[in-house]
Amino acid sequence: MAKARVLGNYRIVVTPNIFISIDIARACERLRDAIRAHVVGFASCEVHFDTADVCSFCGKPWLLTTNVDGDDVESCCEENLKEFMADGEGD
Ligand SMILES: [Zn+2]
Repeated sequence: MAKARVLGNYRIVVTPNIFISIDIARACERLRDAIRAHVVGFASCEVHFDTADVCSFCGKPWLLTTNVDGDDVESCCEENLKEFMADGEGD
């Protein structure tokens, strides 16, 4: 029996120009609306995105962990660690 490859799950991926706006979510919605208004022949056109937790101080992936005793704290940056300690969480 010979293996044959068939195509499925057809989709077109549209990548917004991230330099158009700093509000990338709004830029994606406007692009979606433009496609819906001016393009025919599609079943759906929706905005999907992933989320990630980042530190509001340094912009790096969120990192704030303590060991079991709570006396060893690992943080993405000094500012985040200072806020953690100031909130009394580090006591
Ligand atoms: Zn940070």
